[in-house]
Amino acid sequence: MLTYLIILLDDTSVSFCHADNPRCERRLIPLDVLRQGIRFAMMENLTIQFVYPDYPLPADYASVIESIDHAKIKPTVEAADVWVTDKPFEGEVDVPVVLRITRQELFAQTEEISNLIGHAPRLNIVITDIGAFTDDDFERYRALLADISARVETLTKEGRMPWVSLVTDRMALTKMNNCGAGDSSITLAPNGRFYVCPAFYYEAPEDSIGDLEAGIDIRNRQLYKLEYAPLCRRCDAYQCRRCIWLNRKLTREVNTPSHEQCVVAHLERNASRTLLANIRKANPNFLAETKIEEIDYLDPFEMKREK
Ligand code: SF4
Repeated sequence: MLTYLIILLDDTSVSFCHADNPRCERRLIPLDVLRQGIRFAMMENLTIQFVYPDYPLPADYASVIESIDHAKIKPTVEAADVWVTDKPFEGEVDVPVVLRITRQELFAQTEEISNLIGHAPRLNIVITDIGAFTDDDFERYRALLADISARVETLTKEGRMPWVSLVTDRMALTKMNNCGAGDSSITLAPNGRFYVCPAFYYEAPEDSIGDLEAGIDIRNRQLYKLEYAPLCRRCDAYQCRRCIWLNRKLTREVNTPSHEQCVVAHLERNASRTLLANIRKANPNFLAETKIEEIDYLDPFEMKREK
């Protein structure tokens, strides 16, 4: 069910997900398009997420934006509901943080990143080059997840519960919680057209799924749904973003994941399993509803092939 409308306020709005935004020329959403987008969301009962660029918007935009309940995704921490950054931060932050980072940066800064844990209510780490993971990278990622888990475990022993997407999301989930692009969320771009997600707009603006006048028209809409993803619907890496854009980029099918996405998600799943077991040694009822079984594969596709 469609639940969220993401509105890109400018062509240079910050990317908060796997895909980079290559646009550097400003193109502010026209005020009348913004108003129509808000009206559309109200008619369809959608929750709006506004995605900001790194410059201040003209004053008349604020009153339009504030006319409806929403969340602000921003590249600056001031007045943000979610702050997106590409560098480890210093000090305490009182809003959820999205840290976008390449795998090599992540491996090179493991200690700095571990030290961020507990200094923001939530730390979402988004790897921007999942498609480039090699077998060596998978091993390094396994070690990094163990380091991050150790830090989370230490803090839980002190009575705190830090949230770090890579290892704590799966612990708290009892069913799939994926991105939902094209299914539970769509994006309105500054050109007044709808897209599956911001990445689809960055990559091919002609590839829209409708506009404010004609409404939404998603071809083969069922393919964006979990039930029509043969691997994912049987998977229990519930924290996986199941990135539709990455699927299309790496396998040419929106509902078929790449080997890299699956292995990364399963390494996280398995690290969460170990972390959960370790926390339960001291607190047996911790997240009692969660079950994460032991498995002997990292890519559900390989498992299917072996059968
Ligand atoms: S790990 Fe692979 S199969 Fe499982 S949800 Fe993610 S993309 Fe789908």
